[in-house]
Amino acid sequence: MTLTIILFGLVAAAAEIVGGSLVLMRKKWPRSIQEYLLSLGAGFILALVFLELVPESFHAVGGEAPLFMLLGYAVLHFFEHTIVGHLHFGEETHTDVMVSGVASFSTFAGLFIHAFFDGFAISAGMEFNFYLGLLIFFAVLLHKIPEGLTIASVMIAAERGRQTAFLASLAIGVATMLGILSVFVLSAVNGRVVGIAFAFSAGASTYVGASDLIPEINHSRNRVIPLLVFGGMLLFWAGTALLAPLAGH
Ligand SMILES: [Zn+2]
Ligand SMILES: [Zn+2]
Repeated sequence: MTLTIILFGLVAAAAEIVGGSLVLMRKKWPRSIQEYLLSLGAGFILALVFLELVPESFHAVGGEAPLFMLLGYAVLHFFEHTIVGHLHFGEETHTDVMVSGVASFSTFAGLFIHAFFDGFAISAGMEFNFYLGLLIFFAVLLHKIPEGLTIASVMIAAERGRQTAFLASLAIGVATMLGILSVFVLSAVNGRVVGIAFAFSAGASTYVGASDLIPEINHSRNRVIPLLVFGGMLLFWAGTALLAPLAGH
């Protein structure tokens, strides 16, 4: 199982680096594609949170589940939007705020923590129930390319050069893997910790869907984008139907 989880983590990390490389190839990356991915990703992850992660968190840790869910939400809010001044998903277009070197570094730090918990959620999910972990993996994968694109374009906007931009997306990929591995350490402590990590991930995933991805969709001038959130929910439904034979719960 450990090896399987690591392999899924590597795929997610690779998607991150692909996203970063797209910026560096300087091909005109159509803004609409990144918006489609963010929108599908938002619908998918929110359906996953409400239909599976929240109820399963109660199975995992019982009445204390809400506390760990809130903690997951709060930790991401703290690292992404409290100590970090400027972070949003999708290509960085505000070169003015990136002039100060601090802005690009703090965005990097915020995304590093975010990506760590992407990996953490996949790993905790798969340890708890492989079927749920697979759904979390797909939810993360949908927004991983835009995420890699975000960090590389932040570095370019801050005029830090192409090599730094590539290394930054690589480092965010590494953060995803650190999240994957950290659950192995925690699960060695005791079994209940996996349940707590799972409930925490439910809260963190709520943050990713509702506070990272949805605001980007609301900014879009293209009215198809908000509609695609429902497409993401349908995609989740299709995914659960497809993976149903794996669901042992
Ligand atoms: Zn910006
Ligand atoms: Zn992410």
